Amino acid sequence: MDVLLFDLDNTLYPPERELFNLIDVRINRFMVEQVGIPADAVDSLRRAYWAAYGVTLQGLIRHYDVDPEAYLHYVHDVDVTTRLAPDPELRDMLAALPQRKAVFTNGSTCHADRVMNALGITDQFETVFDIRVAGYRPKPYPEPYRAVLAALDTTPQRCAMIEDSRDNLRTAKQLGMTTILVGPGATPAFVDLHLPDVRALGAALSLKEAAP
Ligand SMILES: [Mg+2]
Repeated sequence: MDVLLFDLDNTLYPPERELFNLIDVRINRFMVEQVGIPADAVDSLRRAYWAAYGVTLQGLIRHYDVDPEAYLHYVHDVDVTTRLAPDPELRDMLAALPQRKAVFTNGSTCHADRVMNALGITDQFETVFDIRVAGYRPKPYPEPYRAVLAALDTTPQRCAMIEDSRDNLRTAKQLGMTTILVGPGATPAFVDLHLPDVRALGAALSLKEAAP
């Protein structure tokens, strides 16, 4: 295993920072103010789009002909520094990992850059793959995973995916990747390693390596 694919939101920082809530609010506002959807219909529509397409954006493209670039710009227009600060412990852990490292997010590269800058970890990743990597098709669809593997010129067997989303890890496992779940809750059978916090990754991987 020589490639580590990191999810961004609620993986490289914990959900307690509540950064994603700011984006959530922006998504709702976009649907009401830019698309013209009645406010009381937004929640159920988002739930339906999540279930059917993985992300809200896919539903808005299909059913409301929304410009994906306008959406991505609008919803990620949040001040990440109100929720995130440099994380030297995370930075040191990443720096000590011998594997190639990339970010693989359903958000935008712009948002990923802001988050990585706020955490002080930008230079620890060779690249960022965002929702554009497979024509706005999000994880957990297999298409973006395949596009990432092709771009990195690697195979699933050489990759581990680090994620807070069980759905996204299920696809990773189906494709043949090692799956590392970050965060609280139950451990599904398709998860190879479950960590409370991404900062525990370095120690966990070196233990695994040392095991016979
Ligand atoms: Mg996430």
